[in-house]
Amino acid sequence: MEAIAISPREKVSRIVERPEPEIRSADEIKISVIEVGVCATDREEVLGGKALAPKGVNELVIGHEMFGVVADTGDGVRHIKPGDYGVFTVRRGCSRCAPCRMERPDMCRTGEYSERGIRGMDGFQTGFVVDSEKYFVPVPGDLSGTGVLTEPLSVAEKAISECLRLQSIRLPEYSPDWLAGKRCLVAGLGPIGLLAALVLTLRGGAVCGLDIVEPGSPKTEWLSTIGGKYIDGKICRPENIDEYVGEFDLVFEATGIPSLGFELIDALGINGIYVLTGIPGDEHAIHIPGSELMRKIVLRNQIIFGSVNASREHFQMAVQDLGEADRRWNGHAARLITGRYHFQNYLEPLMNQDAEKIKSVIEWTQ
Ligand SMILES: [Zn+2]
Ligand SMILES: [Zn+2]
Repeated sequence: MEAIAISPREKVSRIVERPEPEIRSADEIKISVIEVGVCATDREEVLGGKALAPKGVNELVIGHEMFGVVADTGDGVRHIKPGDYGVFTVRRGCSRCAPCRMERPDMCRTGEYSERGIRGMDGFQTGFVVDSEKYFVPVPGDLSGTGVLTEPLSVAEKAISECLRLQSIRLPEYSPDWLAGKRCLVAGLGPIGLLAALVLTLRGGAVCGLDIVEPGSPKTEWLSTIGGKYIDGKICRPENIDEYVGEFDLVFEATGIPSLGFELIDALGINGIYVLTGIPGDEHAIHIPGSELMRKIVLRNQIIFGSVNASREHFQMAVQDLGEADRRWNGHAARLITGRYHFQNYLEPLMNQDAEKIKSVIEWTQ
């Protein structure tokens, strides 16, 4: 079978031939891959950025945003059968720290976790993949058009559910519908930002989305269809957002731009919560008004924290919300996928990132 591979830290990628994986233990599931999403992590890997090949080799099969159909199961797998749709989660624990032993490798304390397609384990950009049932998350057949969004959506789900958990333990007035009517700002309208806007809207939040794309572009159109309001960062400077549109109860950062990341603290209201999910690609130092920010964070009881990766539970929440979104906006979530490419043409979505596009996926139909 064919697979898309890179040599970590080199600017080379190619289609390689790999033996089809087989089920070797009773708890395993073999998936026939249907499609795999491409994101900034994959683009970075192809351009020689951070990635780690499996031990003993210098080639890594990329791809972590997978969706497929079960081809075969081990004897011990009871509730999943061939023909079922689903995804595998991405991160595998270090097996040494407490969170990993509790199946929460997204909170790994040693940093010695592996990630399929990114760090030490081959990924999903290939025809078939095998893994343990405990990493499998079922996706209903009627969501086959959006199942590939489960992984990026799980990242947004984790960040938002952490916001809500943190608020629930400290706000006297907290209730399960706390987000209803709350002002939410999403910075960066890439797939993660737009999916965060989707989750926040489903929970009742009033969402504004900040970016620097042209009004009327696919990203702003997608946002406005779910009721989100676009803030054009070219007109409204991030540090003045609070003056233009008021302060926010929740800020979700998905840009990875450090200066913007700090400027957005200005837009956070009293008792507000701010989650950072973008990862800067460079090491440039920036100047920030430290005293002013520290004073503000303390005097306004604010929480600022980071969130990465997701647990299996967040993947399940993502599947739930894809269904919910489908019922509410009838097929709109699928319009996040703006390009599908045959795997032979993998270079196009990996090398050319068109600002007009939202999510590109690579197809592995047999
Ligand atoms: Zn990704
Ligand atoms: Zn660990």
